[in-house]
Amino acid sequence: MERRLRIEIGGIVQGVGFRPFVYREALAQRLEGWVLNDAGGVCIEVQGQERGLDVFVGQLRTRYPALATINRFELQQVPLEEAGLGFQILKSASDSSGAPGAAVSPDVWVCPACIAELFDPADRRYRYPFINCTDCGPRYSIIKATPYDRAATTMAEFPLCAPCRQEYEDPASRRFHAQPNACPDCGPKLSLIAGGLTVEDHPLREAVRRLRQGQVVAIKGVGGFHLAVDATNDEALGRLRQRKGRDQKAFALMVPDLERARGLARVSEREERLLQSPEGPIVLLEKKEGAALSPLVAPRNRYLGLMLPYAPLHHLLLESFDALVMTSANLGDEPILYRDEEALPRLETLADALLTHNRPIYARVDDSIARVAAGRPLLLRRARGYAPRAIALPFKGRSVLALGGELKNSLCLIQGNQAFLGPHVGDLKAAEMQRSFGEMVSHLEGLFRHSPEAVAHDLHPDFVSSRYAAALHAVQAVAVQHHHAHLASCMAENALEGEVIGIILDGTGLGDDGTLWGGECLVGGYGGYRRMANLKPLALPGGDAAVREPFRMAISLLISVFGQDLPELEATRQIAASELTLLRMMIRKGINSPLSSSMGRLFDAVSSLVGLRHRISYEGQAALELEMALEQDLATVSPYPFAFEPLEERWVIDPDPMVRALVADLQRGESVALMSARFHEGVARMICELCLRLRSTTALSRVVFSGGCFQNVALLERSAALVREAGFELYTHSLVPPNDGGIALGQAAIAAQR
Ligand code: ZN
Ligand code: ZN
Ligand code: FE
Repeated sequence: MERRLRIEIGGIVQGVGFRPFVYREALAQRLEGWVLNDAGGVCIEVQGQERGLDVFVGQLRTRYPALATINRFELQQVPLEEAGLGFQILKSASDSSGAPGAAVSPDVWVCPACIAELFDPADRRYRYPFINCTDCGPRYSIIKATPYDRAATTMAEFPLCAPCRQEYEDPASRRFHAQPNACPDCGPKLSLIAGGLTVEDHPLREAVRRLRQGQVVAIKGVGGFHLAVDATNDEALGRLRQRKGRDQKAFALMVPDLERARGLARVSEREERLLQSPEGPIVLLEKKEGAALSPLVAPRNRYLGLMLPYAPLHHLLLESFDALVMTSANLGDEPILYRDEEALPRLETLADALLTHNRPIYARVDDSIARVAAGRPLLLRRARGYAPRAIALPFKGRSVLALGGELKNSLCLIQGNQAFLGPHVGDLKAAEMQRSFGEMVSHLEGLFRHSPEAVAHDLHPDFVSSRYAAALHAVQAVAVQHHHAHLASCMAENALEGEVIGIILDGTGLGDDGTLWGGECLVGGYGGYRRMANLKPLALPGGDAAVREPFRMAISLLISVFGQDLPELEATRQIAASELTLLRMMIRKGINSPLSSSMGRLFDAVSSLVGLRHRISYEGQAALELEMALEQDLATVSPYPFAFEPLEERWVIDPDPMVRALVADLQRGESVALMSARFHEGVARMICELCLRLRSTTALSRVVFSGGCFQNVALLERSAALVREAGFELYTHSLVPPNDGGIALGQAAIAAQR
């Protein structure tokens, strides 16, 4: 029997080869009808035999293109129509005015079919570094405006040659409407710049030669420039560290394939899938003993950040190396360099040569960074491959722009029931950021043709983003407390509504009482929160200096517990007697010693107390090294205890007994691994205890974890296990970072409902 179906599909379904896929599947099942892009995504009508229709619908649901994500699939039967027209891809009004959000896909890998052509000597794109198709290649980084169309991308300046145009217009081709489609005759070209001269013959070969000699080569990639060196060459790494002004933080590596990754690090099955995914993030993996690498790649670090080649150029380069350091071309935490005119002069001092090309990058996109925790990806930096993919919200809110935090800044837009979280940008304090902030905002708003009714920003009035929001007089500015934003971010990622218990363990953020918060238990939802518990506030002697020098936190913690008679410890010996007196005086009188309930600072203090890290050279270093010192299974050690003291309507969590137990262990000469384990287990038990106490007073049993401390996989996995064992429904972050890179989503969700 013949039937006719109408199918509407929403999600990322435009610009990802969805219509040609539908066309091919319809032909394969001898169905008639049409497909078109409309404002909601893709709309299909098909008519034919029942069996063919069943197969067709099954394929649509399961075999859709790699870059597509489906969040709506509606199917209804409609009256039969006259047959005999075959199956067609219809042009629609929405080809030029379609749903903007539906069209902006993230930048992803080069697909297996294109890699096969890349290395096929008979193919016309043999060894062509810009090969792509509708299943792969650059997207967000080259799109200037929507609708997504070649003229609106940085490929506009490369007119298609006849064979490329034919592919572009053929619905049966893998390159039908592939906007970045190109070949050696019509597309972008590589060049190499060294000593002010441009080499156009064999730029790739020349780059490989220079890398082999130990030179630093800047390489233009998908969303910005990398600095590359041979990862086995100590001298090259020394040069790179010196020029980048980076003495300890680990560098990311690119390796040609999974086998080579396994030679350097332990790779679980889940990590393997993440490494090989189209998103292709840097994955943090446990380093193997005796890995054939320069020790300068990741000094004092048990982990390596590895990624596989994701652009065709990388596949060609990595033929010649087992591992290349590929670190973002920037200084410190500044945003990655991406524009030729800005990058070239600054790269002169960083790199010996520059392997570049003439396809402009329109929007910067740094590499994403991920770990695997409890069998799921945990993004620490959400950028290439993920941004600006939509996050489906459990509600429809007003249109909002959220400006994010001061560190690890990212922007977020809410439109209807979708949130678009832009890529990680970096530290907003950097001077360049302040200049380009407005530019980023207008780019993202332009792409999604978004005009906000409200702008959400942090409570802190001095942030660049807060000042920017205040200057936008036309729309309502909504100030959102930092840890409330963390709570809402985790709720939004997990599509939760109502009220939850939020365990927010973080660095610092301004609280609604004017003090610095960071070890918080908030109960609430998008509409508001109550502060139910917090870590006992501790003085940060020297303010920012206490963040850079964890021994200051160690001394502050000791003073809070022991008063005048500090025990003799390595941490207290970091400082001369006269300075110690000064520090005491600062703390006692509150001079430049703001109080903070930050859990991140407590981790810093413990890292210094156990003798691991007294001064840091990058954010989060002390806590990271404390995590890496772990050896025992946390469940097998006895936890350091925390005390719960009632204060007004809430609990104050006092680390006093924890510190006394730790100092006793230090005096007994226990191992750093054991002390770290007892501390981690103590924090995990404290989290669970807190949830239990709050369940009895609030009757809530849903819990969310957010904040930078949950980048710590050991802490996350152990506290998650305890909380779940106690019968709670726990929700954690996965594709939205638990750190400040995720707070724009929370700010937006709160402002959309306020
Ligand atoms: Zn492809
Ligand atoms: Zn061509
Ligand atoms: Fe935070």
